[in-house]
Amino acid sequence: MNTPFGLREDQIERYARHIILPEMGGVGQKKLLSSSALIIGAGGLGTPAAQYLAAAGVGKLGLVDMDVVDLSNLQRQVLHHTPDVGIPKLESAKNKLSAMNPDVEIVTHETRLMSHNALDILKDYDVVLDGTDNFPARYLINDACVMLKKPLVHAGIFRFDGQILVIQPGEGPCYRCLFPDPPPEGMVPSCQEAGILGAVAGVLGVLQATEAIKILAEIGQPLVGRLLIFDALGMDFRKVKIPRDPDCAICGEHPTITELTDMELAPCQL
Ligand SMILES: [Zn+2]
Repeated sequence: MNTPFGLREDQIERYARHIILPEMGGVGQKKLLSSSALIIGAGGLGTPAAQYLAAAGVGKLGLVDMDVVDLSNLQRQVLHHTPDVGIPKLESAKNKLSAMNPDVEIVTHETRLMSHNALDILKDYDVVLDGTDNFPARYLINDACVMLKKPLVHAGIFRFDGQILVIQPGEGPCYRCLFPDPPPEGMVPSCQEAGILGAVAGVLGVLQATEAIKILAEIGQPLVGRLLIFDALGMDFRKVKIPRDPDCAICGEHPTITELTDMELAPCQL
């Protein structure tokens, strides 16, 4: 049977609240269904982001992680439930996301993202979401996305605060334009030492999903060159304009970084 936009009848019903939005419509929903997103880290940021991307009908959702679910994750990683403690996060995530929306192909990459595999894993996706919270991974993901000219939704969380920036290589600043070098070791508490209000991870993860959906459906203005900073205690959102750095080591006029390298530090997701 012919249905509008080439969507199945059950899809028209499932995505009705999207399709009714003039900016999105059936055209935008079709774009989502034929697009792909990669989430690096199935933790505090990655799991809420994954839930909304799966619910939205993003056709292919890739997840990179190699941890198992720990009891201390459940305070914020809401895709994982108590019976999942001890099983791989990817298995837990895939079970829930597939049940949520069978339209979505869930691709699991059970590995640690490193310089030798990053380009190969990232190259097949339309947008990348960074759900890690350590500097080696952040710089690696940034550099790989700049090299592949792939949009990246960066977010970071710490205690009661969060930040988010969309990196659109060639159009706006990258993570290195903002922070040219990682902080010296010992200056930043490790993931095990830092506290985080669980709901703050949810806010930032859902903001990441929102930006990714806008990019994939080609609607609105992404947070390119505008760092959004969230302070939960004051319930304050503010934006800071970030210029592109012409001397940036990866996206500047004369880049000095021409290949990916690994920095030493065990990755984890807050
Ligand atoms: Zn840059």
